[in-house]
Order: sequence, then C-alpha cells, then structure tokens
Amino acid sequence: MNSLRIDSDRFQHDFEALARIGSTAQGGVHRPALSENHLAARRWFRERIAADGLEFRQDPAGNHSAVLPCPHAQAPTLLLGSHLDSVPNGGRFDGALGVLAAYEVLRTIRDAGIRLPFHLEAIDFTDEEGTLVGLLGSRALAGNLPPSELAHPRGGRAALLEGLHRAGLQESEIPRAARPPDSLAGFLELHIEQGPRLLEAGADIGIVTGMVGIGSFLLTFTGRADHAGTTPMHARRDAGLGAAEMIVQSSLAMRSFSDEVINFGHIHFSPGAFNIVPHRAQLTLEYRSPTQAGMDALKSTLTELAHASARKHKLELEIDEQGCVQPTRCSPGIQQAFRQACKRLGLKAVPLPSGAGHDTQALAQVCPAGMIFIPSTGGSHNPEEFAAWPACVNGANVLLHAVLEFANDFAGG
Ligand SMILES: [Zn+2]
Repeated sequence: MNSLRIDSDRFQHDFEALARIGSTAQGGVHRPALSENHLAARRWFRERIAADGLEFRQDPAGNHSAVLPCPHAQAPTLLLGSHLDSVPNGGRFDGALGVLAAYEVLRTIRDAGIRLPFHLEAIDFTDEEGTLVGLLGSRALAGNLPPSELAHPRGGRAALLEGLHRAGLQESEIPRAARPPDSLAGFLELHIEQGPRLLEAGADIGIVTGMVGIGSFLLTFTGRADHAGTTPMHARRDAGLGAAEMIVQSSLAMRSFSDEVINFGHIHFSPGAFNIVPHRAQLTLEYRSPTQAGMDALKSTLTELAHASARKHKLELEIDEQGCVQPTRCSPGIQQAFRQACKRLGLKAVPLPSGAGHDTQALAQVCPAGMIFIPSTGGSHNPEEFAAWPACVNGANVLLHAVLEFANDFAGG
C-alpha cells in the first residue's frame, strides 16, 4: 500500500478538461457560483462520475459528490474536497484542483480494491467564494449557515434567488443539507497556497495548522470642515490627517506582530473637495490572526492607535465593529496523518496557518478537519495563479496517503 500512487495522467486530463469550462482569454476561468459556467462544470463532474461507474450524490444545498461506499451502511463518511466555483475572472487552480484531487484519490482507492472503514466522498461545495453567500454549501452541510445570511446575502437577494432557480434548488430546502456530526469521520482538503511562503521555504507541502480569525472595524473620524487656504495648519481639526495617522501608525505597529496582518481597504473623505479641510474620514480596517491571543492583541493595539490618532488631531472617533470570525484550529490527528504521508513520500512539509477562509473552516466546527497547501505562484483570484503539475501530483498523493493513515488510525480505534 506504501507504493500506491494516484494516476497523474488521468488526473491531468480531467484537470485540463475542467479548466476549459468557463475559460477566459487570459487563461483563467469565470465560474461564479450557480452561473451557467459553474453549472456546466458541475454537469461535467457528474458525467465523469457516471462514466467511471461511481455513485453520485447531490444534496439540498447543491453540493455534488462522488461516493465510494464501505460495506457497513452505518459507518461514518470521510469527506475530501473543495469547490468548483471561482471568483469572477479567477484562476484555474483555486478549488478545482482540490475537487479533482479528492476525486482522483477516490478512484485510486477504488481501483486498488482497498476497503476503508468509512464511506469516502469527494465533494464539490456550493459557493465557497462568496459571489452569493460564501461557504454556502460547506456551512449548510455542517449545519452552521445562519438563516440571516440567506436573508441578507453579500451578493444580494436577487442574485441568490436567480442562482438557486438556475440550479433547480429551493431556498427552503437548504437546511436539509445538514448532516449529523456523528455521520462525519472528518474532512480533508487540498488547495493551492495562494501566497509565497512554501516557495520561500523550499517546501513541497504546507500542513495547515488553522485558519485565521477575521475582525473588521469601520472607523469614523470627525473634525471640522474649514477653508483650506485661510485656516492655519495648527488650527485645523483635519479628519483626513487623523485617518492617515492611523494608517501609518498601524503599519509601524505591525512590526511587533509576526503571523498577523491588517488591511485598510477603503477610505472616504467628506465633503471631498480640493479646497475644503475634510471634516469626516471613514476607514475600513480588517485584521487577521491565526490565534485568539493574536486577535485580542491586535484588537486592543488598533483600538488604542485609533484613539491616539483622534486625540492628536482633535477629532471625535467612532468605532463600529463589523463582525468577527474566530480563528479555527485544524485537527491534530489529521495534521499528523498529513505529516506521516509526506514522510512516506519523501516530501518536505512545513506547518503554516492559512490566511484565507476555506470550506475546512466550516467543517472544523463539527468534525476533525484539516488541509494541505501546495506551492503556487501568481497570487490568486486572478488568471495568473499557477501551480506546477508535479506539485499538484505531490499534493494528491499526500491526500491519498493521509486517507490511508487516517483509515489505519480509525480502524485501530
Ligand atoms: Zn478556494
């Protein structure tokens, strides 16, 4: 069993066939969740499953799966997968590689005649990217999709209803996709890194230790509008300068953090004219950390800096917290299975936190969940994202051997 490997040619053939669906002139794909292109990709997957003689499953959240059942009907299910939707004008690897690697692992195990102590399911989750809601399929399956997010989806109600209609799905049925936690043995995901750390470390595989927590603030500095020519600099209450002070001081403060990041994504000055000192400046601030301690430290540092910037420029300050996602830890058992798999395959693995949200985050709330990254270049969420094929094959083989490791531990109790 140690010498078992996935079929690289079959895997690549499928990857290229899938990448043609919704392909763009820039070399990426355009497959927003439940768009015609996305549904075409899903039809392709379903036909592939049928052609390979495997069992197909679709749930009320639209999640598409191939299933390799084990003889014990009551056994739980080990899920492997990711997502076939993309951001508008996205890349070919984000999500799609994870679904196809999962599927290739399932076929390899079937072809080798290996009996697992659980059902194995390769799944394509609906709307991971958040064109409509974000992690719609994975959170529905985990039973933790708040009804308020369907009522106020980030992509708007009209887009959600249109997409569901196009896919033949019923909004009222989505909660029925929830599976009892004890029916889930675990979840494993393969994904491109979407960042430079693996290449910098010269590593083949990143074993994800956890997903970052995400906090966000809307900061409003209020001063006084004045004539930009006749008001001396020292007499101004310039909200724009307060916001700028906040950005610069926060960036300097980040030198004392290592795994944490912040982003000022939007700034708005009012009234917004050449010759008027801005009386109001609004600033969006997002901060991320892999640990709760990091989240707490960032929150207090940034809040203090905002108050100090306001004081320095004689401004009023309003801090509006806009929601917060807690950091998620990946299962130590699954991380260990990935480490063992890398060792067996002679691949260099490094532990690292994930700076982005993934379907793993939703599943980790209800079952042991973990993920690996493979090195990628060109950033992500754009047509330039790229992973070398040997790296994709390494990742799929690690996924395969992690499943076998997990099965051993599972059987051994
Ligand atoms: Zn993704």
